[in-house]
Amino acid sequence: MQYVQLNNGVEMPILGYGVYQIDPAACARCVGDAIRIGYRSIDTAQAYRNEEGVGEAVRRSGLARGEFFITNKIWISNAGEQRARASIEESLRKLGSDYVDLLLIHQPFGDYYGTYRAMEEALAEGKARAIGVSNFYPDRFIDLATFCDIKPAVNQVETHVFNQQREAQRIMERFGTQIMSWGPFAEGRNGLFTNETLRAIGERHRKSAAQVALRFLIQRGVVVIPKSTHAERMRENFELFDFALDEKEMEAIEALDRGQSLFFSHYDPETVEYLLNYR
Ligand code: NAP
Repeated sequence: MQYVQLNNGVEMPILGYGVYQIDPAACARCVGDAIRIGYRSIDTAQAYRNEEGVGEAVRRSGLARGEFFITNKIWISNAGEQRARASIEESLRKLGSDYVDLLLIHQPFGDYYGTYRAMEEALAEGKARAIGVSNFYPDRFIDLATFCDIKPAVNQVETHVFNQQREAQRIMERFGTQIMSWGPFAEGRNGLFTNETLRAIGERHRKSAAQVALRFLIQRGVVVIPKSTHAERMRENFELFDFALDEKEMEAIEALDRGQSLFFSHYDPETVEYLLNYR
């Protein structure tokens, strides 16, 4: 495994396993499979409703808690200092752990400055080893990162070959913030798994389009957390460290960038209302 060092010295695996849209009843089984394959970094969120499954799989693995890197995210309905503080306790109870390795604000809405203060307290109390944000576009990211006491260790944003976030990554780097990709396959949108450029490059390395898409990101220093409910795909997605893309291949993939989301925009009022009403 390869690691990145966060701005407070904490080491984070560059490859992890994401559990968005994994049914709570199936989550412990899926995370158990991922752990057996070798994943040690798991990305969950209050809004996924499967924190218990993550905790159960970690406990059942028989491995020490210190072997794992667990990321959790605070949802908008828990925004504000007091609510966020209470929700951090509730999440730790669900995860069955005294701490998370990384705690993020899931979306930049509500009193997220208050949320961030509660996270800074959690950090000081040892309930989180690092804190950061998610879905902060450059405008809100620069605002928070300028005025908060502890600079975000991570910003988790939609990042894949069709939306590469190069400018956003440069801005994060100015604040010492690590970029982390969500949707590294764009959830398969835009034909990612059968994309000709990715497939042709993959053939040269005896790798799949999926593996090339992930390798491209980690070579750019982006942390990835692909999701799959299938053990054979989890294994495929884990085998990224026995090949490398050359400069020409990287350039060919850079040309796939459309520079915009394949999912949603925070500048769209309907999206904002949907997110604010999501419980
Ligand atoms: P993703 O990882 O881009 O794509 C997952 C999809 O790809 C699933 O349909 C999966 O199917 C399929 N898949 C996985 N590996 C494959 C392979 N090797 N070949 C073919 N198909 C494959 O999507 P995501 O789950 O949205 O993103 C990853 C993680 O990022 C999430 O689980 C979550 O932890 C995080 N996330 C965060 C946010 C946020 O707002 N912060 C938003 C979205 C996601 P099967 O499961 O059927 O195998």
